[in-house]
Amino acid sequence: MERKKRILGWIGVSITVVFSSIWAYWGAFENFHEGWYSTSVWENIFMLFFQYLLFTIIFVVLALIILKWKKIGLVVHILTGAFCVWFFSGASFSVLGLMIVIPFAALGLIYYYGNPEPLKWARRLIIFVPLIIVIAISIPQGIKVSQRIDDGDFGIRIVEGNDVTLAWAPRGPGWPDRGVSWEEAQEICKYLSEDGLTIMETEQNIWRLPTVDEAVRSMLLHGENSGGVWNASEERATYEKTPDKESPLWDVNSKIIYYWTADTSIQDVNQAYIIVYDGGVYDKRKIDGYGYLSFRAVKDKTETDQPNNNSQSSQLICSKFYTPFALDEDRDSYSSIEIRSMDGFGAYRIGHVHAGLDLKADYTEPVYPIASGQVADILYSFPNLAVLIKHNLPNGAQVYSSYVHVADISVNVGDIVDENTQIARMLNKEELKKAGLNTPHLHLEIRKNMDDDGKGSYLCKTIEELDKYFLDPTPFLKEKLND
Ligand SMILES: [Zn+2]
Repeated sequence: MERKKRILGWIGVSITVVFSSIWAYWGAFENFHEGWYSTSVWENIFMLFFQYLLFTIIFVVLALIILKWKKIGLVVHILTGAFCVWFFSGASFSVLGLMIVIPFAALGLIYYYGNPEPLKWARRLIIFVPLIIVIAISIPQGIKVSQRIDDGDFGIRIVEGNDVTLAWAPRGPGWPDRGVSWEEAQEICKYLSEDGLTIMETEQNIWRLPTVDEAVRSMLLHGENSGGVWNASEERATYEKTPDKESPLWDVNSKIIYYWTADTSIQDVNQAYIIVYDGGVYDKRKIDGYGYLSFRAVKDKTETDQPNNNSQSSQLICSKFYTPFALDEDRDSYSSIEIRSMDGFGAYRIGHVHAGLDLKADYTEPVYPIASGQVADILYSFPNLAVLIKHNLPNGAQVYSSYVHVADISVNVGDIVDENTQIARMLNKEELKKAGLNTPHLHLEIRKNMDDDGKGSYLCKTIEELDKYFLDPTPFLKEKLND
């Protein structure tokens, strides 16, 4: 009798160890495959234990309870099984029924009648086998994930792939951080504005989803092309090296791990191909939209899309500010700004409030950035030609400086610039007359964001609207420049 109880007890231990180990293996891999995206290590660790290793922990804890207190343990087993049936009733029964619910009830009875002597060894196996599996997987996977490149540049990215060069949409409607169905993704692409930041009212047909072939050929590992090739008839992607969830194509800190492609599955017209960050291609129903599956719009590279020098742009932090004119005696002192200043911020104009600071300038005088940064946008609409430069401040915040009423713009979107890069010149006499302006002046804006596409300079009707997009340049520069 004792022998039978012992065998039964060890059968229980074996079941616990097998199931907790399978879940440990799955959980540890998934934790690093789809999880581990938060910027907070604690949140990642929380997800590891309460999402990916939850079932492992449940099996281990239940076994330890019933080895200590048989009656309580049996009740807890049955209650846990019942809870799982209720909690996961929406999920497919084949997996969950097999992997969770049935084992609980059976296991409770096995432990109740069994007796795995020596208990000390039963406990050790139950704890350490899944623990060793988790550690063995987590160390190499954790190292891999920690080496992912995140250059912090979520603007339009030009990616030169294996025989294909595409511009990938910036963070925004064309690259959302939420689950999106194929149908919706197609719709958004059609209406996406040229700069990829706004959904327009009419079809633009500038952006689209990448084809599978393009997506496969664009995949990267640590900034280098993965050498991907798509075999359409075999529905298989092959790579020289496995791509990863990294800049510039993926957001390391997003839960999105799949992008839709434009191509319908050759097996089923209701399905389209998705690509995983590791290069895998699968098909999913076009109407499906769940948390990990989204898209990133692409367009063919055009003249104005310059490749961003991405490693520079993210590390580029501007610690020092200047006046925008090389002729100023002290470019780093506020007194030069004061001398140039004509008209300030917030003044009422016909139809809008003044969004910037007007600085006196000579005809055709060269214009320079007020700090190092990256050209974020250029507006070609005479007489309001403007250059918009993004600056990363030392505190992690970003501001944009905008230089309006200029000509001969000599930089491109994406260019890295500093205070010595000439970006444009002031208007000449004729241009000024044509523009309907009286005196040559640089309209300088400090923008908080580009939510309005950077074009709202003369659209703000109230001080409240102005505050939403702009900073008053006078105190801003007073603070940033020397006295
Ligand atoms: Zn102005």
